[in-house]
Order: sequence, then C-alpha cells, then structure tokens
Amino acid sequence: MSYTSRRGRRPSEYASKSSHSFIINDPDVSGFLANCDYPKDVEDVDFDKVPTYTVKNLTSNPIKNIIAIDGGRTEVPVRREFPSSVLTFFQFGALYFTMADLENLYIKPFIEPSEISKLKEIQRLKFILPTKNIRVSGMDTLKNSVRKSIYDFFMQNPQGDKKFIESFKWLLFEDFQSSISFWNLASCPTCGQRDIKLKSEEMEKDYTFKCPSCKEIIYLTDTFRLHEIIDNEIGAGGIIGYLGNVLEQVVLIHLIWVILQIKPSLLNEVLFIKDGQLAFFGQTANIHEPMKALIKYLIEKHSIYLAGLEKSGAFVEHADEIADKLAPGTAILLNNDYIYRYIIPGRPDATDPYGSTTYYGRKVIYKADDERVYVVTLPTGDISVSPEAKDFPNIDIILQNIKKLKCDMYDSSLIPVSLVNNLVSLSNHPSSVILEKFARNTISSR
Ligand SMILES: [Zn+2]
Repeated sequence: MSYTSRRGRRPSEYASKSSHSFIINDPDVSGFLANCDYPKDVEDVDFDKVPTYTVKNLTSNPIKNIIAIDGGRTEVPVRREFPSSVLTFFQFGALYFTMADLENLYIKPFIEPSEISKLKEIQRLKFILPTKNIRVSGMDTLKNSVRKSIYDFFMQNPQGDKKFIESFKWLLFEDFQSSISFWNLASCPTCGQRDIKLKSEEMEKDYTFKCPSCKEIIYLTDTFRLHEIIDNEIGAGGIIGYLGNVLEQVVLIHLIWVILQIKPSLLNEVLFIKDGQLAFFGQTANIHEPMKALIKYLIEKHSIYLAGLEKSGAFVEHADEIADKLAPGTAILLNNDYIYRYIIPGRPDATDPYGSTTYYGRKVIYKADDERVYVVTLPTGDISVSPEAKDFPNIDIILQNIKKLKCDMYDSSLIPVSLVNNLVSLSNHPSSVILEKFARNTISSR
C-alpha cells in the first residue's frame, strides 16, 4: 500500500528469482519475449504529459469517523485421510473508530496493542465455503452446496435484525432510486437456460425465484454467477478470490444501507476504507453497475467518502517505480493513455475507459507530504477516458485523511487496514489444526 515497506522487503523477494534466469536464457523464450510488451521503466515516462493534481490542504476536516473493511481466508483440508476434501474459511470485518481517538494516539511515542483494542470496535464475520470434494447435507452436488452456503450466509442476521440479503436486494434492484424491474441472470444454475429475467415483483419472500424453464430454485445470490465456474470434480477454488472481494463489499453496502435508514447525515463525516480496488471482477463483474448507480446517487443526494487501497499488483509496482519523480502532495489522475502506455501493456480504446466493465471509481497514484505513495481508487460514479480533478468528488478530503492514517508500527501500512488485517486474519491463528477440528465438527454435525 505504501511503497516504503515493499522496498524494505525487496532483497528477499529477489533471492528466490535466481532460478528464473535459466528460463529467460532459453532461446525460444527470449524469442517469444522479444515480441512482447512490458510495463515501462521510469525513464520512459514523459512527466511533462502526466496528468497530475496538487492536493489541497483542508481548512477544516469533515471526517470524524473511519470505517475500514478487510478480510482474509484460509483453505483447510477437512480430514487428514482425505486431503482433497477442502473447505475455505473466510473471515472479514469492519473496524470503526473516531478521528479524535486516532489523533490522541499519535501523541504517544509507542502504541500498546491493548490501547488499540480500546480504540476500535470491530465486527467480525465468518463464512465457510465448501470448496472441493464435499457437499452439505440436503444438497446433491458441490455446486449446489456452494450456492446454498452463500445464500444461507446472506440470510443470516449479522446486525441484529438486518440481513445482508436485504441490503443486497436493495442494491441489485436499485431500490434507493426508481427501482429497476428485473435483473438479467446470464444462466440458470440448474438447466443452463440463458438470459433469465429475475423480476423484482416475482421474487419470493425468502429472496428466491423459480427458473421459468426447469422450475428449479434460483437464489438472489446466484446473481454473482459463481455457479458458472464451479466444477463438481475440480472444485470451487476458482471462485475464492471473487467471493472474498464480494463479501467485503457486501459489508460496505450493508453499512451504507443501514446508515441511510438510521442517520443519512452520518455519511457526511465517515470515511470508508476498503482493502483493494473499488471493483467487482470476473463472474461478479455485473454488480459494478448497480454499485456505480449507488455511488452516483450518494454523490448527488448525500455524500460518500470512500477509498479502495491497493497493496500489490501492477499499479503498486508502477507507483513504486515512479515514486521519486513525483512531487510530495500530488496525485496522478490515471487516464487511459497513461495506464495502457506505462502500467498495463495494451492499446487504449478511445471510447472505453479502463475498468469500465468492473470498476465504480478511478485510480490515482498519490504521494503524500511525508513521501509515502498510495494507489487509491476513488468513487466516481460515471467513468471517463481522461478524468479531471472535478470528476473525483471529495478528492482533497479523502486523500488528506488517508495521509493521517499512516502507521509506522504496522509495516508502513495504514492503521485501520492493518488492524483489521491483524484482527480478522486467520493466518494469525496458532495453526490450522483448530480450523480443521472446527471443520470436522461442523461437517459431522450435519
Ligand atoms: Zn433452469
């Protein structure tokens, strides 16, 4: 997320790469590589043409509260005797604290972990995904076990009487404004019938539909289309990344939904921070459409302070490369030309903005006054090929507050995100044996 820590880790990253030199020396490989495009070196970047923006100082800060959302996951074999039977534990959560508490914390030279636990309020959620060679009772296949597990999770009540399925339905059918009458489902999970219109008015009370062709059940959560990439023999491993991203964003959507019902004015003083991009990928990509509509609605009618922070990937590597060339307090507003020229090898389409089928925001590379560099997606609603500062609502407020969240004790990352990481991360558990035991008990009790 911040380039300093990644630089610190570099020697060990390179240590393992010596074995790769053999492959690069292969004449077939080098011949192939000669015809390929790579991300550009910093020397190739024409800084005169880079669309930069000087981030303004704030006279007053409207942000009073921070909510950070993050998650982690671990794959666990259910029984030692059958290592191919696998479950995936997702653990994710939202961390809440006030800006005032955070500022008090910085006065102290060292922050005790116990003080941090006083600072935050965290909501932790768990979800267990049957991943391979397993089925839950009552379901005939792995695919249907996965579908049912996701649906059941959304039907639980994580926030008292409110269910995730309620806020998800609100998003999908755009109930925040004049609702859309149907959602087009690409294929029926049972019979494969294409383009099924899931009509809001035909939805059952339990958030299910009937396939017009095979009459089998369709869960509202089938709109994630994950069933399309689950194979009963190979497993559901292909959905894990997409699902993790969905679950974290479902927490975000749910919180926005709850705030709009209880006290919409709170949106004027909360900064939401999400780990990773503001986007839906792969099978789940279509969900970016109602999300874009929601962001647009919030920008017009209320307010939304939200940032997606990337820790790794091509954009972070590029930000790392150019960090020294960028003046402190400036942001690069990444446009099509810049992204395809320097970061993602490709040919910019004159009309199709980068990420138009996945993102509900645009990315900037931000170098704070203290020289830390961040890759941030900011919510924009509509996306243009060459965004200008005016296309990023609240850019100064969001970036200035990200700067405030720096944290030296957690490997130069941001306080809330590293805290959530620590608190929800399953890798922090003493061993996966506990999980294995848990898995065994859960399965045998079914
Ligand atoms: Zn069907």
